[in-house]
Amino acid sequence: MQKGIRDCLSQLESSQRLLTVEREVDPRFEIPAVMQAAERKGKAVLFNRVKHPGYRVVNNVLGTRKAAALFLGTEREQVTREWMQRMKQPIVPVEVSSSPAKEVVQTGDRVDLEELPIVTHCARDAGAFITAGMVVARDPETGIRNVSVNRMQLKGKSKLGIRMMPPQHLGLIHEKCEMRGENLEIAVAIGNHPFDIMAAATSLPAGQDEFSMAGALRKEPLELVKCETVDLEVPAVAEIVLEGEVLAGVREPEGPFGDFMQYYVPVMDNHVFQVKAITHRKNAVYQTIQAGSLEDTHYLGLSREAAVLEAASRVADVRAVSLVPTILGCAVSIHKKSEADAKSVLEEAFKAYRWLKYCVVVDHDVNVFDMNDVWWAMNTRSRPDRGLMLKEQAPGFPRDAFHLHQSKLGIDATAPLNQWQEFERKTVPGSEHIALEDYLFPGDG
Ligand code: MN
Repeated sequence: MQKGIRDCLSQLESSQRLLTVEREVDPRFEIPAVMQAAERKGKAVLFNRVKHPGYRVVNNVLGTRKAAALFLGTEREQVTREWMQRMKQPIVPVEVSSSPAKEVVQTGDRVDLEELPIVTHCARDAGAFITAGMVVARDPETGIRNVSVNRMQLKGKSKLGIRMMPPQHLGLIHEKCEMRGENLEIAVAIGNHPFDIMAAATSLPAGQDEFSMAGALRKEPLELVKCETVDLEVPAVAEIVLEGEVLAGVREPEGPFGDFMQYYVPVMDNHVFQVKAITHRKNAVYQTIQAGSLEDTHYLGLSREAAVLEAASRVADVRAVSLVPTILGCAVSIHKKSEADAKSVLEEAFKAYRWLKYCVVVDHDVNVFDMNDVWWAMNTRSRPDRGLMLKEQAPGFPRDAFHLHQSKLGIDATAPLNQWQEFERKTVPGSEHIALEDYLFPGDG
């Protein structure tokens, strides 16, 4: 059996990055409220008892850069580079005959989505939403598989609203089915290894298999198992699988939903997913992701950081790239070799990633994952009348009713070249290794 989300939880637990909640909790607002508190501490949370018997809930598995580093077996600064290297070697998945995801199989009248601990996240959300579902579908013309992450709104015992619009591949595939008057079979895997979700969340060229990219991140073929009622396959280590059809010619209101920019997306006419089977492990781990959380930012950001890293590395000696805490703003640290390096990096970054609005280039001694540090560099090392690059009429994020994403600003916050002695940061010897407990009385703080 290859690694799944349970192995990740063990890894997090042994590095003190997992909180376990034993008290019974409600997926409606209570779970996300605890999640937010845990996120501030940089911890994943496992809720062992929820209102819905037979299930556990987990969140924030990829809530920190350190967790990503832990799973990738590297250092925090190296996560993007490691990710980029691994993604260059796709590995085709293999099929296995059995899976614990079949321990419980519910079909027909026994299908009841309301038994799942689907989380209601935000005050004005239309209801409970599945946010960590990996959707598998097959192109009816080419037979090529597609995997993506789509939000789904709970609408009844066997019915979900699903957001899946073109140009996203799943939306295009559904369009082809709809032209033929056919429903689209899909399978949704919930409770996945973060590598599998990362691969599914990456925008690949059409026809490129996301599961082969999951293999690339895993450095071994992803094991897949056949579904019960649809002609599709899902990761054998998945905790929960939903099978069914996205209906042809049917749209219903879906939303509002508190999305990644921290705003509510409005009600839209979206697709309907009729669920025909639910299979799951015993004591299954239901996974949820809060839109706009650091975890969500990591899933959305890693592939885009890699694109910026690759492009910027062609023109400068790049140390690290960060799209945290919002994927519309980027910080890049470099080992500066020439006065032109920062501007070259800004040019490349904006070309490589279209949604990018602000980009700041800092020196190698600045922690790009700490916005206080980046802000400090901007305030002590940049000169606003010279170190700026303004791009007018450069479109960014496309859903832009107020034309707020129509220009870009690049900032050179690097110290002048060959003046390093004057810009060396002061340090207190030994401060990094101090254990504060040693200096307190027992019971203090
Ligand atoms: Mn695709």
